Amino acid sequence: MRRILILGGTIEARRLAERLRGRADVAITLSLAGRTAAPAPQPVPARVGGFGGAEGLAAYLHAERIAALIDATHPYAATISANAARAAAAADVRLLALRRPPWQPVAGDRWTEVADVPEAVRALGPAPRRVFLALGRKELDPFATAPQHRYLVRSVDPVDPPLPVPDATYVVARGPFAEAAERDLLIAHGIDAVVAKNSGGDATYGKIKAARALGIEVVLLRRPQLPPVPSVASVEEAAAWLDHALVSMSARGV
Ligand code: NAP
Repeated sequence: MRRILILGGTIEARRLAERLRGRADVAITLSLAGRTAAPAPQPVPARVGGFGGAEGLAAYLHAERIAALIDATHPYAATISANAARAAAAADVRLLALRRPPWQPVAGDRWTEVADVPEAVRALGPAPRRVFLALGRKELDPFATAPQHRYLVRSVDPVDPPLPVPDATYVVARGPFAEAAERDLLIAHGIDAVVAKNSGGDATYGKIKAARALGIEVVLLRRPQLPPVPSVASVEEAAAWLDHALVSMSARGV
């Protein structure tokens, strides 16, 4: 039985684990960073918490005799992806990245693409607006410098401490989010700007479609630079890659 480590924290990682669960030729471990207080139930054994940088991950791969590493982390989790690339090279372990393609603008989208959160704050401008922040709770601090806006903040865990701005409303919710409900949310709060990541996939695309339908501007964070490693865009392709990797390992007698 070959041991496979999936770096997770995404729907795709969970789906891949589900797909590989129960196979007699592989033992799957899913790795979670431990960011959310109550992570969604996982279909395979999970380990939780950081490894201690690329060196720590390389040591883990070696100690656990991992045969293949699949980096199925979120496209904005750039540090762990860089660590995965370095660790896999150091430990001589096969690596695949499972990365969702970014959304592409279509007719009717009003996107303002920015490099980072401080640029997103600047893009909102000086005049007061009603802004929906669909970002991780750890990325909100720069909005404290723009207290003139009214904020609607959605996160998986409560934002604690809250943003030091006079007008912020908090919604704690976990996706997927359907377009109709997103539309209702944007209307109910009179939102005129959405700030979000270009996460790709279906689960959080509802707000982009809803903003399009309502003619609302979306300030979209560009994707971070990720390491140039072999990558696929779907769970099916990742499973096929693993099958090929297993055959080639057996052929080489490793
Ligand atoms: P990050 O900035 O790339 O990573 C920071 C550190 O967290 C890493 O150096 C590593 O610590 C640890 N880490 C990250 N992912 C890990 C994993 N799957 N297993 C074990 N340790 C992990 O990561 P992030 O952006 O904070 O994301 C953290 C987790 O949330 C990831 O699993 C990601 O898939 C998920 N997530 C992120 C976003 C997002 O927008 N960034 C959105 C949805 C889900 P050590 O150096 O100590 O190993």
